[in-house]
Amino acid sequence: MAENGKGSCAKRRALVLFSGGLDSVLAVELLRRCGLEVTGMTFTSPFFGSAAAEEAAARMGIELEVVDITSRHLEVVRRPRYGYGKNMNPCIDCHALMVRVAAELMDGLEADFIATGEVLGERPKSQNRQALDLVAGASGAGELLLRPLSARLLPETRPEKEGWVDRECLLDLSGRSRRRQMDLAEEWGIGEYQSPAGGCLLTDASFSGRLKELMSRVPAFDGSDVEAVRAGRIFWSGSTLIVLGRRHEENMRLVELALPSDRLLRERDAPGPTALLRAYPRGASPNRREIAEAARLLGVYGKGKKPLAPRELVEVERRRGEAEPAS
Ligand code: SF4
Repeated sequence: MAENGKGSCAKRRALVLFSGGLDSVLAVELLRRCGLEVTGMTFTSPFFGSAAAEEAAARMGIELEVVDITSRHLEVVRRPRYGYGKNMNPCIDCHALMVRVAAELMDGLEADFIATGEVLGERPKSQNRQALDLVAGASGAGELLLRPLSARLLPETRPEKEGWVDRECLLDLSGRSRRRQMDLAEEWGIGEYQSPAGGCLLTDASFSGRLKELMSRVPAFDGSDVEAVRAGRIFWSGSTLIVLGRRHEENMRLVELALPSDRLLRERDAPGPTALLRAYPRGASPNRREIAEAARLLGVYGKGKKPLAPRELVEVERRRGEAEPAS
């Protein structure tokens, strides 16, 4: 292992892809110990948010850029060039997209190069040598992409060749064991960090099943469809998506998510779940059979535990989330 902080590094700025997970936290800390300025960059999409990164950046005292990549990320999820991982996570394409976005924004942030917390061999599919090369190539970042935690096992990058960062200052971590990372965290006084891949819904088997079904039924799905299928119990009736809230918070969330063309229904005479009905193609109205199915589900999952008829439902008023009689 290199003696960190002893290299002769120029004061250059690294733009570090920062999730708040242990590897990205270590990458930031290592680069700072190598004498570099650091800006963090994190991303949001319907599949992950920025809360963990924002908390970790505040703890570490680094500037953090938060970039919403929803539309480009949805494209990657729909058609990943390098396939999916165990679930619906297209990690190689996703990494390449994030690095590409960082490369596009790098100059405006006065950064000299991009760094990530990737560790060679830590994830068999997305962090093997071939995958790391693919990300560097597919993102367009090429030699401006440094993996400081494994740099000494990888070809020299431009930041090293130019002397912006001393290669001797960088690390040679590899493999699936995270022991050395945890030892470093302890040595460097880093007590808190997010678990690996924590927070990305695409790695969740149950959510991936919902997403697969959405993709097969609605190939042009968008972010609001993803938000809907993660918001409660999911059913399909014909070409209509029916989402049932399981708790008060989910019922309120469905009210927030409802588009003007959606129906929001609940049982008229008793408290119970709210149902959001979204017919496809977008803008279509649910037909009688689909509304009857929603009534059946609202009854079965309500307090009475038996099917209801459509006449026993009311529309939920959207602004205040309260019920008013259906017209
Ligand atoms: S786990 Fe999710 S956020 Fe992370 S690279 Fe894979 S798809 Fe992207």
